[in-house]
Amino acid sequence: MFDGLKDKLSGFTSDVEEDVDEEAAAEADEQAPDGEATDSDAEGVTDETPGPDAPVEADAAAPDADTGTDVDADESPSEEAADAPEESEDTSGRSLTQKAKIMATGKTVIDEADLQKHLDDLELALLSSDVEMGVAQEILEGVKENLTGQTRRRLSSTGNLVRDALREALYDVISVGQFDFDERVAAADKPVVIVFTGVNGVGKTTTIAKLAQYFEDRGLSTVLANGDTFRAGANEQLQKHADNLEKKLISHEQGSDPTAVIYDAVEYAKANDVDVVLGDTAGRLHTNDGLMDQLEKIDRNIDPDMTLFVDEAVAGQDAVNRAREFNEAAAIDGAVLTKADADPQGGAAISVAHVTGKPILFLGTGQDYDDLEAFEPEEIVDRLFD
Ligand code: GDP
Repeated sequence: MFDGLKDKLSGFTSDVEEDVDEEAAAEADEQAPDGEATDSDAEGVTDETPGPDAPVEADAAAPDADTGTDVDADESPSEEAADAPEESEDTSGRSLTQKAKIMATGKTVIDEADLQKHLDDLELALLSSDVEMGVAQEILEGVKENLTGQTRRRLSSTGNLVRDALREALYDVISVGQFDFDERVAAADKPVVIVFTGVNGVGKTTTIAKLAQYFEDRGLSTVLANGDTFRAGANEQLQKHADNLEKKLISHEQGSDPTAVIYDAVEYAKANDVDVVLGDTAGRLHTNDGLMDQLEKIDRNIDPDMTLFVDEAVAGQDAVNRAREFNEAAAIDGAVLTKADADPQGGAAISVAHVTGKPILFLGTGQDYDDLEAFEPEEIVDRLFD
């Protein structure tokens, strides 16, 4: 996942940083004292710029330099500036006044206008990777907010300012609504009832089987329930997984009431001390009133602990739209994105949480029962930048 997007994001960060380097050099050339405006002086801005813990000279010596920045107050050197020595030489041999001039010229090197062309490229990159439009906007806003008016000093002291700004903006949209799935399961009264929704063919049945394996690995027993009483062959499909995993399946005849199936599974779990009930539902479109009525009836009568929406990462924008619509029609608690192993874009993984306000909890990463990964926003963002 993310192979295409990774390259585009790294293109954005290096383009902006390159631009900043060029501007800082150009501004230093323009304003450094005669005879000193050389390339090496400009580089000196980078090399000799103190880190955030020692940024005293520029502000002390050039108090009226218009920074135009939003630098955080706690990074402002003004307090330390009061203690700065009046005039002395640093190891470069420049007086602090000279150095301050160079530093002051290099201060406001990232502003909105400079950024805009790069942000336009970034927007295109996100949209072409199937990131939802509103989510792309949110990421751009985040990057802009994190970067606009930042100083050269801070850039050179972190070295990763642009990348960090992008990371943070991505993390903010990816991590919406995150909760600890295992903790929630552990805290709930047993049996824990989890119901799955989503359209057909996306890997819903396989995901239920994978979660049965997931719980088994954590010492929790499961019973499966086929609440998809609509589709011919659904019982057999789930029965196959149940047989493979040696799990009990509760099913009724095709056409019967899904609530009754899940109710029976809950009763079975209570009678047999089973920890978790995993209930499939019919995979029809959210626009199908019958399905939504069924979900509502399950909600009313069973009151599941969680309703998880399953869709395939490879469906990109379609998956994002379905997540939004399912959530509006029958509130979900979280999502599982399958076939992440076959999705080079990653747009759905980036968008679903922000669009629904509910977290992605798992990624399906293959066809085997243990091809299920807990969705960790931090790790996902790392993957985008490693
Ligand atoms: P359902 O109709 O939504 O229940 O879909 P199924 O569970 O039957 O899955 C449809 C197909 O997708 C099957 O061939 C599964 O093996 C495959 N599949 C499910 N999850 C994944 C996944 O995470 N990665 C890959 N590559 N294939 C998957």
